[in-house]
Amino acid sequence: MSMGHISFRDPFGRGLWLKRGNLALSEVVGDDFILIDFDGNVLAGTGLRHLEWPLHAEIMRARPDVNFVGHSHSHYATVLGATDEDLGPFNNHGVWFAEHGVPRFSETSQIVTSVELGVAVAKQLGDAEAILLKNHGVAFVGDDVAEMMLAGIFLEWACKFQLDLLSSGAKFDRPDHEESVEKRRRIYPPKAQRNYWMYFNRKLDRVEALQGIGIAQV
Ligand SMILES: [Zn+2]
Repeated sequence: MSMGHISFRDPFGRGLWLKRGNLALSEVVGDDFILIDFDGNVLAGTGLRHLEWPLHAEIMRARPDVNFVGHSHSHYATVLGATDEDLGPFNNHGVWFAEHGVPRFSETSQIVTSVELGVAVAKQLGDAEAILLKNHGVAFVGDDVAEMMLAGIFLEWACKFQLDLLSSGAKFDRPDHEESVEKRRRIYPPKAQRNYWMYFNRKLDRVEALQGIGIAQV
C-alpha cells in the first residue's frame, strides 16, 4: 500500500527529500517528494509528511556516507526479523551484507515516529547497509540510489533464501566471514552494481509501458 518510503539527501545541504505520504512506492512520479530539514520541518513540496520521517533524518544525520534511505515492510525480511536468526552470507544476495552483517533493532516493534527512536535505530544500524526492525520491517541504505535499491532487493531475497534453508531440515554451515567479504568485493564491483541497476530500470520500463504509466526513461 502506501507504507514504504524512500528519501535522498538534498544536494544543497538543506535536509532530505522524502517521498510524500498516501501513495505507494509504485505510484511515485517526479514531484512526489517533499523537502524536510533534519528536524522534520517541511521546506518545499506539497502533500503529507510520513510519520516515520525521523528514521530517515537520523540515519542520514549519523551516516554522512549515506545519501539514500529506504524503508519497507517486506515480507521475508520481516519474518526473519521476527526471529533471533542472524542473516548470513548463504547465497550471493546475502553476501551483499557480508562485511557488517544486518543488525536487528528489537527495543520496540513500534513505528519510528520520534527523534529518540530514530537515533536508536541509527545507532543500531552502525556502519551496516541494512537493519531488521523486529516485528515491523526493514531499513536499507546506500551512497547512491542503485546501492540503496540493491540493498533492499537483496535483503528480501537473502532472507527468503535463509528461511528456505532453515525450513529445509538439511544440515548446513555458515560460510567463512573473510571469504564472504572477499566474495562481496569480487561479485559487486561498481560496474556490476551499474549492470544490475540498469536491469531493474529496463524491467520497470517494460512494466510501465504495458500499463501506460511511468516517467522518462533513465
Ligand atoms: Zn514502518
